[in-house]
Amino acid sequence: MRKSYLLTPGPTTVPERVLSAMSRPMIHHRTPPFQTVFEEARKGLQYVFQTQQDVLILTASGTGAMEAAITNLFRKGDQVITINGGKFGERWTKLAKTYGLNPVEIKVPAGSAVDPQELEKTVRANPGARAILFQASETSTGVKMPTEAICKIAQAANMVTVCDAITAAGVFDLPMDRWGIDVLISGSQKAFMVPPGLSMIALSERAWKMTETADLPCFYFDLKRERKGLPKNATAWTPAISLVIGLQESIQMIREEGLENVFKRHATLAQATRAGVTALGLELLARNAPSDAVTAVLMPSAIPDAKAVIKLLRDKHGVFIIGGQDELEGKIIRLSHFGYCDKFDITTVLSGLELCLNELGYPVEYGRGVAAALKVFGKSPKES
Ligand SMILES: *Cc1c(COP(=O)(O)O)cnc(C)c1O
Repeated sequence: MRKSYLLTPGPTTVPERVLSAMSRPMIHHRTPPFQTVFEEARKGLQYVFQTQQDVLILTASGTGAMEAAITNLFRKGDQVITINGGKFGERWTKLAKTYGLNPVEIKVPAGSAVDPQELEKTVRANPGARAILFQASETSTGVKMPTEAICKIAQAANMVTVCDAITAAGVFDLPMDRWGIDVLISGSQKAFMVPPGLSMIALSERAWKMTETADLPCFYFDLKRERKGLPKNATAWTPAISLVIGLQESIQMIREEGLENVFKRHATLAQATRAGVTALGLELLARNAPSDAVTAVLMPSAIPDAKAVIKLLRDKHGVFIIGGQDELEGKIIRLSHFGYCDKFDITTVLSGLELCLNELGYPVEYGRGVAAALKVFGKSPKES
């Protein structure tokens, strides 16, 4: 017998409550039972996104809503500013190019957040740009980007902000309306604790206005069409019914805990994770602006390939984490601590890590990382 522990930054562990909600007999989407579920799920998304705007639910992984943002807002040849702090920032640039936009990319070193002053300079040099596209949390490096500052810069220059909040919404505070985020995007398999397959997107008034002049082709992800059906709780196409039912349940869990407490729990879990790996003598990739969603950890020179740690953790101990991509491949491991995650998930992954580090020739004193994490939990005023 071996248990599995899923500590990857999406898909995340699906709670038993959500699993059992999704296993109910199938219903049809153009009937009152589904319409009730759909309405409640959308209200819950407004609560998590902290917005009065409609939140649309698309049938796709998170990238689907990213693509929808591009095709529904822009015109061919539009200039946009993309912030590339890693794999997902790069995706904005690629998407923009795919649809014939003209992206000006700010390349940010892996592990750093964008410097608002540098962004301001780029904005000033490109006054014709229509938008700034970025990640609130760059999952590939574990960096939290300065969303509020980015929004202020964009507003002053009359540009819209398109925020990939796929590992930010429901992880830490990201008030869409208060900060004036124009497009906010998330995905079901991250903090929403639902299997992959739904992406969610909300637009500000300014962003909706842009949809009227956009000229890029879109059919399946036509946001205007999706919005039209909402008063009747109708979707344009057959929705992923079971996933929407799962989402309704998971949002109910978030409501029961309270969004503020969810944020506090994630902050504590992230702090404990950082304390744990640091106590083991390991270095964090995102030293200055770590995200509360995921912690990227550099491997010591005694372990030349981080993939060995990931493989051993998985194959011998049943703990699933992931590593780095592209230039970070083999250099980092990433520990996820959001969604259906509590303090004992953190001590579990740290225990497994301590075993693996010793097995791979980087001696650590057993319990050292775990103890550092426990000290954070013990001090925490709020039970996580
Ligand atoms: C997971 C993730 C995505 C979406 O990826 P999909 O595989 O399409 O779900 C996009 N951006 C970030 C920051 C993510 O973490």
